[in-house]
Amino acid sequence: MLYFDHSASTPIHPAVLKLMQDTELNHFGNPSSAHQFGQKSRLVIEIARKQMAEAIGCLSSEIIFTGGGTEANNLVLWNLLHQQKKHVITSAIEHPSVLNVLKQQKEFGVTSTIIPVDHACRVNPEDIQNAITENTGLISIMFANNEVGTVQPIERIGKIAEQNGIPFHSDAVQILGKIPTNISDQKITMVSFSAHKFYGPKGVGVLYLKKGTNPKSLIIGGGQERNLRAGTENTSCIAGLGLASELANKNIAKRKTHLEQLADQFKLEMTDLYPEIIYNGHPEHSLPGVISATFPAVTSNILIIKLDLQGIAVSSGSACSSGSVNTSHVLRAMNMSNDHNIRTLRISFGRDNSKEDVQLLTEKISDILKQHHNKR
Ligand code: PLP
Repeated sequence: MLYFDHSASTPIHPAVLKLMQDTELNHFGNPSSAHQFGQKSRLVIEIARKQMAEAIGCLSSEIIFTGGGTEANNLVLWNLLHQQKKHVITSAIEHPSVLNVLKQQKEFGVTSTIIPVDHACRVNPEDIQNAITENTGLISIMFANNEVGTVQPIERIGKIAEQNGIPFHSDAVQILGKIPTNISDQKITMVSFSAHKFYGPKGVGVLYLKKGTNPKSLIIGGGQERNLRAGTENTSCIAGLGLASELANKNIAKRKTHLEQLADQFKLEMTDLYPEIIYNGHPEHSLPGVISATFPAVTSNILIIKLDLQGIAVSSGSACSSGSVNTSHVLRAMNMSNDHNIRTLRISFGRDNSKEDVQLLTEKISDILKQHHNKR
């Protein structure tokens, strides 16, 4: 079995799994309990908070644990209901946990300006500047796109937000372990992360909240997470997230090179055989190891199914439901034709992939393409 879908989820790091098992066994006390069992669980959580804070360059007190990236994004957006200023500036390529929330929030008086992207999937900061109104209460632009890997001009957007006194949120779920992350270098107010994208467990994430940012909780109950996320903490998952965040930054330069080399190898081998394949995204501002490739001869669902039958996992931006292929909103935003949209594959490499794996992948894809070329 070969796995090339790390942007969707990563396999758990063995050391992270071990820590989670130990935590589950030995630290089952409720972290809010006063006795020693509780105190030990509390300590586990605070160690994880420190690890995450160090991994992204912020204070421990600026970290809130959530139930994942989706929840972190929701926490930010639903707070608009408590604000006077209810206009949001976001982009056309955001994750559904941003765009679908905004659709639903229309009935509560939240309005939004959806900024377009260019053909390389980048927003133009000037468009953001021009979209600001006196009612703008939030700018939310993702750090890097999950389908094509393009990294956004976050620094420039942050400056615009700061100059205009507008809170700036970024969905950075895709970046940890791929690009060095120092939040305090950026003018960002809130940032979302998700552990299962950096070899941690699913169902746990983080919202970074810059000191002085005080949203209201989405989940009401006890006073956990500084009154911002009620519910008994998932101690083992939080411990796993902490360790995974620490490991994500270890040898990051080496990992980046490894991922880039795999992507280069793929492109070289495929382009030699099939020069008509189109690579999407930004040549420079891009996550390492994420490939978005359009295969003009075959639809992505056929490639995905045929590769899957051989134990190889890749994906596409277009979700395949009940036999019909939906086009990807990200690729549409990049002005890609529907015909190319449904022929676009996402291949996202990970730390355990090797040169030999990539070679096998290119061979298998070539075989499928050969069959389709012969049929035409
Ligand atoms: N944002 C982006 C960019 C993502 O890629 C994902 C996951 O696919 C999410 C948010 C949602 O994160 P989670 O799966 O932790 O809810």
